[in-house]
Amino acid sequence: MNIFDMTIHELHAALKGKQLSSMEATGAMLERIEALEPQIGSYITVTREQALEAAGAADKKIAEGNCDILTGIPLALKDIFLTEGIRTTCGSRILDNFIPPYSATSWEKLRDRGAVLLGKLNQDEFAMGSSSESSAYGTTRNPWNTSCIPGGSSGGSASAVAARQAIATLGTDTGGSIRQPASHCGCVGLKPTYGRVSRYGVIAYASSLDQVGPLTIDVEDCATMLEAVAGYDPKDSTSVNTPVPDYSANLKQGVKGLKIGLPKEYFIDGLDPDVQQAMTAAIETYRRLGAEFVDISLPHTDYAVATYYLIATAEASSNLARYDGVRFGHRADADALLGMYTKSRSEGFGAEVKRRIMLGTYALSSGYYDAYYVKAQKVRTLIMNDFIRSFAEVDVMLTPVAPTPAFKIGEKINDPLQMYLSDIFTIPVNLAGTCAMSLPAGFSAAGLPIGVQLIGKPFGEETILRAGYAFEQATEWHTRKAAI
Ligand code: GLN
Repeated sequence: MNIFDMTIHELHAALKGKQLSSMEATGAMLERIEALEPQIGSYITVTREQALEAAGAADKKIAEGNCDILTGIPLALKDIFLTEGIRTTCGSRILDNFIPPYSATSWEKLRDRGAVLLGKLNQDEFAMGSSSESSAYGTTRNPWNTSCIPGGSSGGSASAVAARQAIATLGTDTGGSIRQPASHCGCVGLKPTYGRVSRYGVIAYASSLDQVGPLTIDVEDCATMLEAVAGYDPKDSTSVNTPVPDYSANLKQGVKGLKIGLPKEYFIDGLDPDVQQAMTAAIETYRRLGAEFVDISLPHTDYAVATYYLIATAEASSNLARYDGVRFGHRADADALLGMYTKSRSEGFGAEVKRRIMLGTYALSSGYYDAYYVKAQKVRTLIMNDFIRSFAEVDVMLTPVAPTPAFKIGEKINDPLQMYLSDIFTIPVNLAGTCAMSLPAGFSAAGLPIGVQLIGKPFGEETILRAGYAFEQATEWHTRKAAI
């Protein structure tokens, strides 16, 4: 079997059976990265030497009979994860020269099990965006059609999986940044419940929303990756101390009798017909598999985008205050301290990040705080209550991930409002703090992938993974590959 067709599980079997070494697999991946980068641009930094060294160490472990599921598997990380000794930019010029002194817990967990790091993946600057066009390191392209965006902000994490430039990747999701690129690139992407995965060592965008999660080519790999990174971390006070279920063991239980809610606010008139068709087909598939559908309503959905863009920008304005040219990152030449701050930030941040800092600072400023920030927090509670109420009736919800398939590069970058509105189906999940997954569910007439979203109860990852697995067994979408 071709290494570029392999899932984590298939590569693991080949490594364990000694048909292939991690050195060979890693070498092949590095070659493919080099060959495809001019067309795709998934990576900001390729860690060739470290990767080969880690592959050698993994092969040694395997020879000694120590072959964990992740040993020797070449993975890659969004450039928002701190990696000790390896440049971490978060897609920003302000961190162009930043070499972190420590690593993110989620990466340490993968590395400790023998995973190989191929490099750091492109993203929107500070994870602010839906198209990967706001990176200071160029735009990533969609492997299915290189004139289209791969989605964002974890665009590099999705394109690398779709172009088979990594076996699996990690991304982060604040308002859809794992699920939307997964949907646009035809891979599986899961945003876990807030608190499920440690965010220690993950550069903060909006701390009450950010979560870490996997992007993979199938649900089984997704379960494996989630199992590896989930769990309590004393270094992240928002991580929850509740046991991590054996997600992989419970995948095959089927969906007979599963109650799936269809929120009417997510099936709107403006929905792209190809997306609508994929949703109808997905519903049909689940019905055949024995699931039951229930019509539900999440009445405050309309307010989600506005609420999100107040809360996320307010938190971002506070989180990004630390980039002042003093302790790390870009420092501009200037005569006085205040001038140095201003110039460093003016030169270091891109236009979208500046826009968000200004919006957030405004929403938090005296006189406006109650009218905007406090109001948004109250509406967030209403949105959360919509989910709690509906989850008393259903086990999971099924919705589109995005209103359209991947749009063209350049189409929305000068129209921030249109860009923000495209997050309407992913944002409410982050505001509610629950979990959701994007699964390949079809293709548009133009040949672009379309994802379906399964939303689970808080800490209900097990259920959405099981439902996702059943869907995958009944469909072929996840087996299609971009002809790149
Ligand atoms: N597109 C959304 C934003 O720009 C979500 C980004 C994310 O999830 N990091 O904020």
